[in-house]
Amino acid sequence: MNRVVLWLIAASLTFEPLAAASRQDKEAAALRGQLLTHITILASDDFAGREPGTEGEAKTLRYIGQNWSDFGMVSGTNDPGHPWFAPVTLVGRQPDTSRAVFTRRGKRVFVPQDQVLVITSGKRALVENAPMTFVGTGEVIPARAELAGRIAVLLDGGREDSKRQNALLAAGASGVLTVLDGDRSLDHVAATRQREAYALAGAELGGDIDAFISASALSTALNGTKFNFAMLTAAAADRKFFPLPLDLTVSLEATSRETRIHTHNVIGKVPGKRPELGAVLLVAHWDHFGTCAQPPAEHLICNGAIDNASGLAVLIEVARRLSKGPQLDRDVYLLATTGEELGLLGAQAFAENPPIPLAQFVAAFNIDSVALAPAGRPFGIVGNGMTRLDADIAAVAKQQKKNLAIDDKANAYVKRQDGWALLQHDVPAVMVSSSWSDLALVEHFFDTDYHRPSDVVRPGMELGGAADDVEFLTALARWFGDAKKVPKRP
Ligand SMILES: [Zn+2]
Repeated sequence: MNRVVLWLIAASLTFEPLAAASRQDKEAAALRGQLLTHITILASDDFAGREPGTEGEAKTLRYIGQNWSDFGMVSGTNDPGHPWFAPVTLVGRQPDTSRAVFTRRGKRVFVPQDQVLVITSGKRALVENAPMTFVGTGEVIPARAELAGRIAVLLDGGREDSKRQNALLAAGASGVLTVLDGDRSLDHVAATRQREAYALAGAELGGDIDAFISASALSTALNGTKFNFAMLTAAAADRKFFPLPLDLTVSLEATSRETRIHTHNVIGKVPGKRPELGAVLLVAHWDHFGTCAQPPAEHLICNGAIDNASGLAVLIEVARRLSKGPQLDRDVYLLATTGEELGLLGAQAFAENPPIPLAQFVAAFNIDSVALAPAGRPFGIVGNGMTRLDADIAAVAKQQKKNLAIDDKANAYVKRQDGWALLQHDVPAVMVSSSWSDLALVEHFFDTDYHRPSDVVRPGMELGGAADDVEFLTALARWFGDAKKVPKRP
């Protein structure tokens, strides 16, 4: 062996791992670049916030469909009349008229109508001359006898959920009048309800009644009764609080206006060798809020860069990798849903009208708001412990030399993502992402840009974790698409 050969061996020993590492770095950088390109286009003002039923939807569908067909994928709708794009009709019920009339011993009590908001999720709802009972903060739900046929008057305390209202209705109240004593304004409640009151066409909507009143208007209504508002709040703060019948009755009436939105899920497929063995499903919602701010704000569009252009970008790049092969045993369906922001409605429509029987999906992975974590973080699982997928996900992590953050903390968000609509139909669905192992990142996003016009592409947008997600989700799809690794269940 001469010195030149020795030198070559030494050189190759020294440089080959470096070359491999730099190739990996280059591939990772290229992937981050591809993700950034998708996100920049999908979250551009040109796509106008990807609102269902608008030109922004048409552009979004075209972008996803074009990428997927370029990769050689086929339509997954199983409907020759509607290849790629499965129609979904949404019905919105927006608050229209609102009326609240207060009386005391048969005499009308004047309350300004603009200080009360009465809403129903149905077309019309009415409660007439119901006595009012103050239930404090609703921490303790009164007995049925104390509530039946009555309007429960509840202190809001700035809480956004409707759990207490629902519990009061379940306990027999005819309706709940929530007193906005905290940060929430009537305008805020009205704006939120504009968005919440959507459903799939054909779904039954109740004739429930939900009313809100400002604290000052309730004070006015209480004039001349034995309580004033300060007495009620003091009573509510007492540990020994009990419900207080008020010397007031109220008639509440609400009507809604109906609007229909014609929108679409995008469904593509990477065909497997043995589709009779079932399929794997990957999901990300494409929709967002469109224009969501009012002048004088300068930027009015909710572009939804993280929520959920980032998830779509990951879905598109996983689709590219799976299309390149190797061909799997099972089909892989890729689903970009509509109406997630209006209540997981596209995912629900898919579950109610799937291209193959839902029982054939061996695993589903949802991808939502993933451009948060830097590279190299462990993967969190939303839905950990709730499906039969955990052991296989752990096996893939081991195979890929990745860490999982095994706890149930991320499960707090399970109902707020499309996987929940699938879980309702017994499809084993989880969300696996490095952005969801560090809830501080997720919560910071919720507190800052989430559902605001500031969710835009910024210079230096963090895409390291999203790129990791592409690799891991591709490995998961390959594992679950392999009938030897995950046999068909009897
Ligand atoms: Zn969202």
